[in-house]
Amino acid sequence: MPKKILIVEDNPQNMKVVQMALRPHGYILLEATDGEEALEVINNGERPDLILLDIQLPKIDGFEVTRRLRRIPEFSHVPIIAVTAYAMRGDEEKIVGAGCDAYLPKPINTRELPRLVAEMLQRQEDNPRH
Ligand code: MN
Repeated sequence: MPKKILIVEDNPQNMKVVQMALRPHGYILLEATDGEEALEVINNGERPDLILLDIQLPKIDGFEVTRRLRRIPEFSHVPIIAVTAYAMRGDEEKIVGAGCDAYLPKPINTRELPRLVAEMLQRQEDNPRH
């Protein structure tokens, strides 16, 4: 069964870059363009194996999306990779504090992205916590 990845990104160009980097790896790609839509996708019953989450999003930001997802039992341990352009020191701490598992800075490194996604999916498969 191919793994399903929810990509949450409000910038169309970045969305395209992420999709092009992940598509060759055979994943099923779902997309949402803001935090509200991301939560709708989940509330509509989608069960992604991993979430790639932009932090700076309209309506509901990535920190809040993560906090809300972590309160849903089925999503308490789904890997979440935060993507952020914030270049501020202490950001990683805030991201991990919100409940994300990993962090990828923008601009997206298109070789690092699929590597990290594969690593996080493998880790979850080896040691399922939910
Ligand atoms: Mn954004």
